Amino acid sequence: MKLYDLTIHQAHELLKRRDVSSLELTKAVLKRIAEVEEKVGAIVSITEDLALSQAEQADKRISDGDFVPLTGIPALIKDNMCTKGLRTTCSSRMLENFIPPYDATVVERLKEAGMVMVGKTNMDEFAMGSSTENSALFPTHNPWGLDRVPGGSSGGSAVGVATDEAIYALGSDTGGSIRQPAGFCSVVGFKPTYGRVSRFGLVAFASSLDQIGPLTKDVTDSALVMNVIAGYDPRDSTSANYPVPDYTESLIPDLRGFRLGVPKEYFVEGMEKGVEEVMRTAIAKLEELGATVEEVSLLHTKYALAAYYIIAPSEAMANLARYDGVKYGFSYRDAESMWDAMEKTRQFGFGPEVKRRIILGTYALSAGYYDAYYLKAQKVRTLIRREFEEVFEKFDALITPTSPTVPFKIGEKVDDPLQMYLSDVCTLPINIAGIPGLSVPAGFSDGLPVGMQIIGKPFSEETLLRIGFAYEQTTGWWEQKPPL
Ligand code: GLN
Repeated sequence: MKLYDLTIHQAHELLKRRDVSSLELTKAVLKRIAEVEEKVGAIVSITEDLALSQAEQADKRISDGDFVPLTGIPALIKDNMCTKGLRTTCSSRMLENFIPPYDATVVERLKEAGMVMVGKTNMDEFAMGSSTENSALFPTHNPWGLDRVPGGSSGGSAVGVATDEAIYALGSDTGGSIRQPAGFCSVVGFKPTYGRVSRFGLVAFASSLDQIGPLTKDVTDSALVMNVIAGYDPRDSTSANYPVPDYTESLIPDLRGFRLGVPKEYFVEGMEKGVEEVMRTAIAKLEELGATVEEVSLLHTKYALAAYYIIAPSEAMANLARYDGVKYGFSYRDAESMWDAMEKTRQFGFGPEVKRRIILGTYALSAGYYDAYYLKAQKVRTLIRREFEEVFEKFDALITPTSPTVPFKIGEKVDDPLQMYLSDVCTLPINIAGIPGLSVPAGFSDGLPVGMQIIGKPFSEETLLRIGFAYEQTTGWWEQKPPL
């Protein structure tokens, strides 16, 4: 038996029955990392010693009968979530040697649940990007085609799960960064409702859009991780104080009575034929499972991308002002004056995409342009949110592709930021509205993965998991493994 390719729930059964120990499982996963990591480049820091000691602790908890489904299960954490005493780089030169003095809330909760952390994953620098090519450290390769991008910005987390370098991973999603790489790598990616999961200890990109969520091999695992990471946190002022259900209770393979909408604006121009075909088949499957499907129109969708690229850079520009060479990370020391030190710290510490965002954000927020750009974008944001509210009076969920294309070639879009930004047309309206979105594997186009996105109203995570679960159980796409 290959231990590394188990899901959380499968591994948990074995651990519970003492058929395997967490130490055995962890060693199998570490060995897998040693085998495939050189090919894919998913991990920034491998935490082998920590993993082995956490596995021993987990085994002790299991033998004491004090455990939950995540106890003793190897995981990867995106490298923008603070890990106490362990380097957290955001794949940036700026934080290359930054060692946080505390854990992010999600990390703290996973540790309490008995996580075995095997490493921190590669990402686009400060989570800005859709291909993980913006990592200042190294690129990550898609296991379904090693010359292709894994999506981004949580590309390392998606690849880590797809290649069994971990049983599950955490990612963060500001405009699609969990769902889009999940779709590109044929794993399950879940962006919960804004405020559902604490952002405390997540390095901020665009605070009104950022949200942490799981990347897993199947939908059941997504529910299991949500059970641990969701919930109120007084250290995050935007955290929702709203009860957390047992998400596994919604895993019922039946969609009778469900009303699903298919927004026609998401079948955008520029969408690949293969993706559209996969989606049509997927939608027919949902109908077979008992759901009624109807076409809907979301007229404001076409403005979401423009609004996002005003709001996200504006917030990023403010959040990134803290990297001045004094408080955190990289500091340029060979300078003539304080200003010179600050300028050079930012000149050498940030990569080109981060600088582009800072310049865009500074422009959008500057006197004279604020009303024309930032304020206008905020108004559009309200319209988009209202439009979703209206359709959710009639529908339980909306179905769209996760991305208009299959994974593209490494290097294909790096010199064309606008083309790159289009990668997230289907996912970023969801962050703009603050609602949840789940991406599940929906099939392949010429051997490359296609993801289906399920969108719901605020705090309808259970509905999305149920739809994803029902779909997954009858199609089994998630079981296919990349040819590594
Ligand atoms: N690709 C989008 C961007 O570059 C979204 C990134 C994200 O979700 N973190 O901003």
